[in-house]
Amino acid sequence: EKKKLGKLKKTPAISLDGIEITLLANIELPEDAQAALDAGASGVGLFRSEFLFMGRTGAEQHLPTEEEQFLAYKRAVQTMKGKPVTIRTLDVGADKPLDHHEHNILNPALGLRAIRYCLKEPQIFLTQLRAILRASAFGTVHILIPMIAHAFEIDQSLSMISQAKEELRSEGIAFDEQVQVGAMIEIPAAALSLPMFVKKLDFLSIGTNDLIQYTLAIDRADHEVAHLYNDTHPAILQLLHMTVTAGEKAEIPVAICGGMAGDIKLTRLLIGMGFRELSMPAALLPEIKQEILSTDISELEASVKKILRTYDPQTIQELLVAVREQNF
Ligand code: PEP
Ligand code: MG
Repeated sequence: EKKKLGKLKKTPAISLDGIEITLLANIELPEDAQAALDAGASGVGLFRSEFLFMGRTGAEQHLPTEEEQFLAYKRAVQTMKGKPVTIRTLDVGADKPLDHHEHNILNPALGLRAIRYCLKEPQIFLTQLRAILRASAFGTVHILIPMIAHAFEIDQSLSMISQAKEELRSEGIAFDEQVQVGAMIEIPAAALSLPMFVKKLDFLSIGTNDLIQYTLAIDRADHEVAHLYNDTHPAILQLLHMTVTAGEKAEIPVAICGGMAGDIKLTRLLIGMGFRELSMPAALLPEIKQEILSTDISELEASVKKILRTYDPQTIQELLVAVREQNF
């Protein structure tokens, strides 16, 4: 059994009809990168950098310094040995509070979080961008910006990245000039204004956890409404399809890094829709790979089209089960 898994680790995730799907891992701390590599990930699709900032106590209570962040990012990058590491900039607020920054606000998920917080605290943002850029000299780094809804947020983020590069250049500090910059698509407004995004960015990554929360207006952490958290709601499927289609048209990669990417019940649906990059917890990677190895993507086309034209939840469920049980 162990030998079989070892072999699977080195097998690329190629469908029966020869289409390669890039399987990536989500990590929270640099030391998780080893598990990503061990699971056979082609890279890190989501490094949730906020975990370096959260839950700090005692002498560590201050925010991590540029040097501390640089060492953490570099460690992950070096562990991955040239495979891409997508570092998401600070995504604090709401379900991920910074200890010194808790407010009694009514709707924290709609409040000052993620990129909104970073643009209001440019010094914190700049420090992180410098640390990420410095780590890019040691492998392949992509920068991923969370919770973007507005064009000016993309522009301001890009201009902060330029400023960080300019500073490093004038200080003679090495970084990768070609570092790619992308945005999370996790606010419905973003999925509904994709031309604004594909024009300015190198890649997109869909955060289905927040996209579902905001589209269906249900708090992802509130158990009272957990039964309404439906990842195959037709609205969600439409937004996913629109996003992958816009990426194809603009010829920029669109990944999924939210929970849907690691749900084997949805793998065939997602690759049938056109997704070619999925990022998930490392432990789920082998089973998702096995599913891809046993799938003929061209044979899924008709069923997926049908699912996207159906607005009846019961029918969607039945079609999903049929797609999953389909033998090729
Ligand atoms: C998401 O929203 O789907 C996501 C990947 O980010 P997080 O779960 O960290 O908000
Ligand atoms: Mg999110």
